[in-house]
Amino acid sequence: MAILVRNLLIYFIISFIFFISGLIYHLETRLPQKDYSDLLNDIENTLVSELTVKDDVVQVTMSDGDQYMTVVQEPAYLVSNWHAGSIRVSYRKDYTEILFFGIGLVFSVSLLLVSWLSLRVKDEQTPASVFANERLITPGAELQQITFDDVAGIPEAKEELLEIVGFLKNPERYNEIGATTPKGVLLQGPPGTGKTLLARAVAGEAAVPFYSFSGSDFVEMFVGVGASRVRDLFGEAKKQAPCIVFIDEIDAVGASRKTSSSDGNDERGQTLNALLVEMDGFSPSDNIVVMAATNRPDILDPALKRSGRFDRQITIVPPDVKGRKKILSVHSSKVKISPGVDLDDIAVMTSGFTGAELASLVNEAALLAARQGKNAIDQEDFDQAHDRILLGVERKGMVITERDKRVLAFHEAGHAIIAKLLPDSDPVHKITIIPRGRALGQTQQLPINERQAYSKQYLKNRITTLMGGRAAEELVFGVQTTGSQSDIQQATDLATNMVCKWGMSEHLGPQVYIVDDGDFLGPTNRRLAMSSETENQVDEDIRNLLDGCYSEAVSILSHERLFLSVLADILMQVETIDGEEFDIIYSCSLKKKYEFQMEDETPEACEVNVLQA
Ligand code: ADP
Ligand code: ZN
Repeated sequence: MAILVRNLLIYFIISFIFFISGLIYHLETRLPQKDYSDLLNDIENTLVSELTVKDDVVQVTMSDGDQYMTVVQEPAYLVSNWHAGSIRVSYRKDYTEILFFGIGLVFSVSLLLVSWLSLRVKDEQTPASVFANERLITPGAELQQITFDDVAGIPEAKEELLEIVGFLKNPERYNEIGATTPKGVLLQGPPGTGKTLLARAVAGEAAVPFYSFSGSDFVEMFVGVGASRVRDLFGEAKKQAPCIVFIDEIDAVGASRKTSSSDGNDERGQTLNALLVEMDGFSPSDNIVVMAATNRPDILDPALKRSGRFDRQITIVPPDVKGRKKILSVHSSKVKISPGVDLDDIAVMTSGFTGAELASLVNEAALLAARQGKNAIDQEDFDQAHDRILLGVERKGMVITERDKRVLAFHEAGHAIIAKLLPDSDPVHKITIIPRGRALGQTQQLPINERQAYSKQYLKNRITTLMGGRAAEELVFGVQTTGSQSDIQQATDLATNMVCKWGMSEHLGPQVYIVDDGDFLGPTNRRLAMSSETENQVDEDIRNLLDGCYSEAVSILSHERLFLSVLADILMQVETIDGEEFDIIYSCSLKKKYEFQMEDETPEACEVNVLQA
């Protein structure tokens, strides 16, 4: 598009120059104007030697060579009426208007021709010059190579991409064995979490060319252009293989055809179809890996995620405190930092910051230091930069206030403690208060698997665990927050299924009261017809089940009030606790060894204390 716009602009400027110079020429050749009576006078006094009539303008040449012009209503009448015969009279047609009209016509035609041609040429050209924002970064280019060392704080994502790097480095080996590597990798996560950086690092590590596009490049005003660009792009990529094609903001083309406004025949739909066709079209031996990034995975067309397309999805979340420290180290290694600065402190105070925000924090601090003529960045610069970023940037709900963070920490601690203390429940895998997707925090256990048989007790424990979040909030702060929404939803679903599907109610017995009308989009339960007493009993049983579990959660947590506070405090500081660390903290709690210093209250510190005890 940019090429087309540039061409149009150039032609516009050229025509404009022509127009202006024509105008100047026209103005310059203009003669002084005089009145009709002056002309009559001059003719009377035989001062006129020649008259040139153009329409209603008469150009007068005097005997002494001077010229002027006069507008005459009826030149023919004038000419036929004067008596002296010594004046030459000639009639001219005025061509200037025709000339200007002609130039205009020629230019508009050539304009159309050129825009048509540039569209055509674009189809045949390599895409290298077609896209405005496209960048082809070839290995060894003067561009600074980005490697995995530049990406910090997201070890899981790096781990997953190592396989892609291995494949791109040595595709023959993979192809010989017949191992299928993913064609497409979808990186999903909030803006600024390093998705682009990661994709470039994969290219850098594997030393292969990197084509980078933005999804919005494909969405054009002309129907069919986007689709043809997709084909160009893949055609070119095949020539450069092994290589990486990176499509940023893939949601611009890949939004669900169902949710986008028109019927799928629109430009975006065609582009998406072309993309799907291309991805299906190349084989693993073409050695192309398509990487795409989005921060709206929810609106992506499910067809994109089907196998053979973007079947590998990697979710990238804002880093936790350890990750932030690592990202800060990466970025501060490029600037001068005074020895007094403690990156740990900065990592703690930047809760919720993304990698991009941490990068700009370091840069902002460097700017502040430079402005004040300092030799190195000190803590004060970081503090100021931090405030500036917090105030200046719209936080989009990513950063939570200290109080909200506390409530969240207690909420998650509540889940975890109940999961730990109830017998026969899944081990806690990870506890985090880093916002992830739509959920604020998370306590991970293994998910319910429909194909497995669960005992009634297990399910009740599960509901109690879900209630643990709300129970902790109530117990400690006496507040109820919306943070429990999905917990309550899950608990209600479980309780409903227990009563209505799995025959686990004492009053109602083993009978089915609801059926699942859902399709592939998800389950939708419908209650079967039943008497109103039964209906009431169903409601009552579900409510009793939920209420009972909630009370149990409250009672467990009030017994473990101290453990709850300690765990919440630790969570506030380290933000993520994995299963192993949680076990250590738990064993501390058993020995009631809480006297470790709050400042470095990490699970490791606790472990040291336990060992010493
Ligand atoms: P996204 O594509 O997810 O919006 P980017 O990859 O464009 O984010 O990140 C923008 C910048 O932020 C990067 O160029 C880098 O300087 C910094 N950044 C983001 N994440 C990280 C990270 N994990 N490690 C180091 N730097 C990061
Ligand atoms: Zn919860």
